[in-house]
Amino acid sequence: MPRKRRRESRAQRRDALLRDAMRVDVPSRADVCVVGGGAAGLVAGIVAAESGAHVVVLERDLECGRTILATGNGRCNFVNRRLDPASYNDPVFVGAVCDASWLDDVLGFFRECGLAWAEEAEGRLYPLSRQAASVRNVLLARARRAGVLLAPAREVIDIRLVAGSALVRCQELHGDERCASLGASSVVLASGGGMASFATNLELSMRAASPVLCPLACTGIDLAPLDGRRVHTKLSLRRDGHEVAREHGEVLFRDYGVSGIAAFNLSRHALAGDKLVLDLLPGLSVEQAVALAAHTLDGVLDPTMAKVLLAQYGSRGEAVAHAKRLELRVEGPAESDRAQVSRGGLSTDQFSPATLEAHDAPGVYACGEALDVDGPCGGFNLAWSWKSGMVAGRAAAQAVQP
Ligand SMILES: Cc1cc2nc3c(=O)[nH]c(=O)nc-3n(C[C@H](O)[C@H](O)[C@H](O)COP(=O)(O)OP(=O)(O)OC[C@H]3O[C@@H](n4cnc5c(N)ncnc54)[C@H](O)[C@@H]3O)c2cc1C
Repeated sequence: MPRKRRRESRAQRRDALLRDAMRVDVPSRADVCVVGGGAAGLVAGIVAAESGAHVVVLERDLECGRTILATGNGRCNFVNRRLDPASYNDPVFVGAVCDASWLDDVLGFFRECGLAWAEEAEGRLYPLSRQAASVRNVLLARARRAGVLLAPAREVIDIRLVAGSALVRCQELHGDERCASLGASSVVLASGGGMASFATNLELSMRAASPVLCPLACTGIDLAPLDGRRVHTKLSLRRDGHEVAREHGEVLFRDYGVSGIAAFNLSRHALAGDKLVLDLLPGLSVEQAVALAAHTLDGVLDPTMAKVLLAQYGSRGEAVAHAKRLELRVEGPAESDRAQVSRGGLSTDQFSPATLEAHDAPGVYACGEALDVDGPCGGFNLAWSWKSGMVAGRAAAQAVQP
């Protein structure tokens, strides 16, 4: 389709979404108000509504569930068979929220949504269609069936607790930018990563947000010629002579550093100044590698990598020895605006793991990335969002039952 027509059809779609959003009237009262209609918020809304509550989901984007569309490169790696609280930054809290039935709960929920799935390497589960839209669409359909009122294009700008109930103020982000107020017996914070200004009024403490699951900026060799090269490696992240974390898999070299799933996972542990040690020939001993490189490096290493290492280290022997132990200095996260997850958020110690209700703000619940919980690549972050959404949604609805 020509670019101009594509732009027009995108603008038309946006106008249509805005018209639909503005047709939704935000009521003045609900049992449960969910702030954010992403992964965790949709599940929390569905579970609360299916438990008998009148639920309104306020979403600042033009439609709910948009964040799901970008996941897994548009395929949505929605859960992993090998869920383990130990994979997360806060294993004790995650373990207390997610019991042994975690995976069954998530799969049972999506089975009831009508989603079929397929398993790929390392326990990663994707929708059978390999389309993230399938996951988003089954959630939206179930939310509508359950009677959840989805109110997109509404940004929550303030939440206050008044006489045992929450007063939620939201503003239309598009169109007339009108404000509306909604009183709710329970409010579920599901606004994802980053700082939510309304947390301050609720007197909830937050840990500053920082990007994780993103590439790492590194120095140490001439990276420019390597931009775009993919190399199978073993990686070790080291600090003060000790290994902090290790990974293996394909590394995508960029002119600023390293990317790919293995680098993303290490970004959860890396600090500026750490050493990243790469074994570019994990299947060979140093002796085997040196013997194979006696006449040429090209038969052993990626040819561009061979050229870079030869230029840096002078001889084939030195180059191949460094390929077995290539040391880079970590400078920090890179492309952080495109990080998959933001570490930080609402401190978990303020919430009961059984209900995800705030100890000091009764009627306020939180789930998903709004809480200071993050896991590695592979479906672990969505798995947390689904499960914590279920726990918060159920508890929020139960609290308002007569
Ligand atoms: C490119 C990319 C790929 C990813 N791939 C995967 C993957 O394959 N598998 C995996 O497990 N994880 C993946 N993740 C991580 C995963 O998407 C998140 O962990 C998950 O979406 C978090 O769910 P959430 O509901 O807490 O937050 P979100 O899904 O971010 O939803 C929060 C919602 O709240 C809304 N919101 C925010 N503030 C307000 C406000 N003030 N008022 C109203 N609404 C508000 C936002 O618009 C958003 O819709 C990926 C992330 C990215 C960025």
